[in-house]
Amino acid sequence: MQTHSLQDLSDRFAPSDRMPVVFLGHGSPMNVIEDNDYSRAWSDLGKSLPCPKAILVVSAHWMTQGTTLVDVSEMPRTIHDFYGFPQVLFDQHYPAPGQPGLAREIVALLKSHRAQEDDHWGLDHGAWAVLKFLYPEADVPVFQVSIDMSRGLEHQLDIGRTLSDLRDRGVLILGSGNVVHNLRAMRPGGKPLDFALEFDALFADRLTDRDFAALADAEGLGALLPAAHPTVDHYLPALAVAGASDARDDLTFMTDAIDLGSVSMRSFIFHAN
Ligand code: ZN
Repeated sequence: MQTHSLQDLSDRFAPSDRMPVVFLGHGSPMNVIEDNDYSRAWSDLGKSLPCPKAILVVSAHWMTQGTTLVDVSEMPRTIHDFYGFPQVLFDQHYPAPGQPGLAREIVALLKSHRAQEDDHWGLDHGAWAVLKFLYPEADVPVFQVSIDMSRGLEHQLDIGRTLSDLRDRGVLILGSGNVVHNLRAMRPGGKPLDFALEFDALFADRLTDRDFAALADAEGLGALLPAAHPTVDHYLPALAVAGASDARDDLTFMTDAIDLGSVSMRSFIFHAN
């Protein structure tokens, strides 16, 4: 397995104009207001990444049925799509501009994936909770692309493949979800559950082997998939990111811990070497 520390990532990113593609396990919204291993790793990553011209976010929290929506708004609003959290979380805003021109190009690029324009969504917490650490100045244009829940896992790999050429145009493709995400099994302070450890390890192995077909094979994953993902919304962004990688990329993992018993915080970056 090819792994690197974050320190040497900034050196490794420098020689290539091809943007890395990043998946972040976002976990609890509380990470936004906590100084912890995850938020610190996101800050460090932001300092290591080359500055993108725009950021395209595939977040677990924008689910659509039968279509892939692309937010073409000039100024995406900050969506506080959670309940029962402290007021300070609802006071958070991420005032980055959108990138309507590029977003409309993406609609055309994903035409065969039933893509359509949208100007209502904005940035959900899957996007802004991590962007706040990656790019705290909110000065890089950002827009979201939804996940079509009516299609299978393979569909997101295909979305990623279709978007991958954007990497050569300075666009950072950012997936935000969780490699394991079972809220029903979640326990504050709980130790990692067996299915969570098993799926997380299997995911890391297959990703390292670039065996993306296995990761998108719901039948092959068997009972482990619904245990790790009772619904696949937090899994699909990881597949989009895998699809946007190519054989030339190195792979770096970070924050590979299981939080709350059943939420994998594993994050990964594919980057040109
Ligand atoms: Zn989430």
